[in-house]
Amino acid sequence: MTEYKDYYAILGVSRTATVEEIKRAYRRLALKYHPDRNPGDKAAEEKFKEITEAYEVLSDPEKRARYDRFGTAGTRFGQRQTVDDIFSAFSDIFSGTIFEDFFHGTHQQRRQTRPMGEPGEDLRVTVQLTLEEIAQGTEKTIEYERWKVCPQCYGSGARSGGYATCPTCHGTGEVRTESQSIFGRFVNITVCPQCQGTGSVIRDPCSHCEGTGRVRGKTTITVKIPAGIRSGQYIPVRGKGHAGKHGGESGDLYVVIEELPHPLFQRDGDDVFYDLVISFPEAALGTTLEIPTLYGTVELDLDPGTQPGTLLRLRGKGIPHLQGGGIGDMYIRVNVYVPTQLSAREKALLKELQKCEHIRPNQQSFQEKARDFFRKIKEVFS
Ligand SMILES: [Zn+2]
Ligand SMILES: [Zn+2]
Repeated sequence: MTEYKDYYAILGVSRTATVEEIKRAYRRLALKYHPDRNPGDKAAEEKFKEITEAYEVLSDPEKRARYDRFGTAGTRFGQRQTVDDIFSAFSDIFSGTIFEDFFHGTHQQRRQTRPMGEPGEDLRVTVQLTLEEIAQGTEKTIEYERWKVCPQCYGSGARSGGYATCPTCHGTGEVRTESQSIFGRFVNITVCPQCQGTGSVIRDPCSHCEGTGRVRGKTTITVKIPAGIRSGQYIPVRGKGHAGKHGGESGDLYVVIEELPHPLFQRDGDDVFYDLVISFPEAALGTTLEIPTLYGTVELDLDPGTQPGTLLRLRGKGIPHLQGGGIGDMYIRVNVYVPTQLSAREKALLKELQKCEHIRPNQQSFQEKARDFFRKIKEVFS
């Protein structure tokens, strides 16, 4: 049923090759045959799929042992699982997302053409990030519970040798129904409902998973989180959702981002706002202050006569754009503190100060400015 493929020959390594040698061989071939490098070249694409399949089996000690014993058929029941794992195997090596579309294409195709088992459900986990982690990008190790492929039967649900040819389809995986009508004979071919197209049924169910092919267990993964991500966005991890039943394809895991509120900064897009409160003397005389940013403290010079409501910009101290190509800014809103509790001495000093020439706002000049403004408007509309 499954064509035998010599995975060692495909990767050009010996049967005793170490995982490191296999990885090296795969990396070399994958770079050569990757569809992005050979656009429109069907042969290269086939070759690429073949080496990826070979790598996927030989780089996993469990699958390799099974392959060594049973040949390609040994990987048959794990196949949907297997191709899913290619995503992670491949991204482990190249750790980029640029290939996602290509894989997504084969992923969809596979769903339609090779029904086997029952697909596993997708899973969501939420990961909380501080604004500092978002600004710098981070790695998060996540532990969660899911249905996993049964380690006793490798997801098949059967004890070794516990299969029989499906009595409904006699091993073909298809059911043909013929009907006669006045227009002629119609042949309808559908996937066998008893074996879901696998051609075999379980004779002796695995006791560890009660024949389902999956067991409950904990999974730990490490996810790279790019700088600039925001709440509600998610990172898909292919094949890390629930394992399917009877060797069915695993669902995907979605790592959903939740940004924790920051005690000092407010985020607006990729810009960050910070409220700075200074005293009246600092505003009037000017000062130099240490200001916290997402990237450590910086020194900030305030000019004498800095007004409340002034907005100062620190270029490049915001959050990097997720798509690359730059970084947001940090804005500092200046507020002036007005004391609410005063000692007798402070009151006396302020009263003294109030008598001084430059302390009160020049109401007259404000009024003149307003008159000027309305005069101009009148001119425009008359
Ligand atoms: Zn069948
Ligand atoms: Zn089992």
